[in-house]
Amino acid sequence: MAEASMKVIGRDGSRYVGRYAPSPTGPLHFGSLVAAVASYLDARSQNGDWLLRMEDIDSTRCRSQFADEIPRTLAAFGFHWDGDILVQSRRLDRYQLVLDQLKADGLTYACSCSRKEIADSSTQGIDGPVYGGICRDKGLSPIGNAIRVRTTPEEICFDDRVQGRQCQRLENDIGDFVLKRRDGLFAYQLAVVVDDADQQVTHIVRGADLLDSTARQIYLQQRLGFPTPSYLHIPVVTNAEGQKLSKQTLAPAMSATDACKLLRDALLHLGQSLPGPQSDRPATLLEAAIPTWRIGDIPRRSM
Ligand code: GLU
Repeated sequence: MAEASMKVIGRDGSRYVGRYAPSPTGPLHFGSLVAAVASYLDARSQNGDWLLRMEDIDSTRCRSQFADEIPRTLAAFGFHWDGDILVQSRRLDRYQLVLDQLKADGLTYACSCSRKEIADSSTQGIDGPVYGGICRDKGLSPIGNAIRVRTTPEEICFDDRVQGRQCQRLENDIGDFVLKRRDGLFAYQLAVVVDDADQQVTHIVRGADLLDSTARQIYLQQRLGFPTPSYLHIPVVTNAEGQKLSKQTLAPAMSATDACKLLRDALLHLGQSLPGPQSDRPATLLEAAIPTWRIGDIPRRSM
């Protein structure tokens, strides 16, 4: 999206700018609805803006059909967003510019390691194998190779508004992580940091499956001189087998005819009180849930 068409928001720091950032890999399911409800109510209860971003950066998994359908489903469920929808696949030049900046600062390197080489040479970290930096000083060409960012052992901490204090030492817990994949696709960790900064997002409310990604994002924000937003991670919705609801675990798509029931279920999942029976339309139900939104009632468990 051109910078000029982006919504301009006050820079005085007093403004709340929230966002909802679904990946259009499938239709919205109950887990995505819960994240939408939480980010929406948190933003609206603080008179904030609520932006919608289509995180379609992974073209191997995303489908334009779902990118078209998701905003329609959200509207049918009573959500209204501010400004234009930001579409990641239209911002590749911007991500490359930021990657070039990190490279100029000596923070990135090309990596030719295969998944197997990494698995064989790594210890297990909190989010898969910890990449030990085999290619760090090889000076490989970026062509046909992944681009990683150098991490450090310094501790990165943040206070999640629901999950409490979280700390990671990236070099030990995660390792140097990928910003651009070998196949040329930009990684979520890079795109999300650039978008949150460009959209001047001040508050991030999302599923706790992303709690472990946050230190990586803060690290990139610090390296790029971007502000760090406040974070709130809500408990993930699981199916009867305890798996996170997702396209992979065959989460059912939601029907707008059940919108009120699903919205009430989402509020219950978030520990919130339910609006009275007179709120019988999705938009009025969501509206009625704004003044009673209490983050202290959100269950702390991450799954
Ligand atoms: N696109 C991610 C998802 O659908 C959310 C990313 C984020 O909120 O930071 O799970």
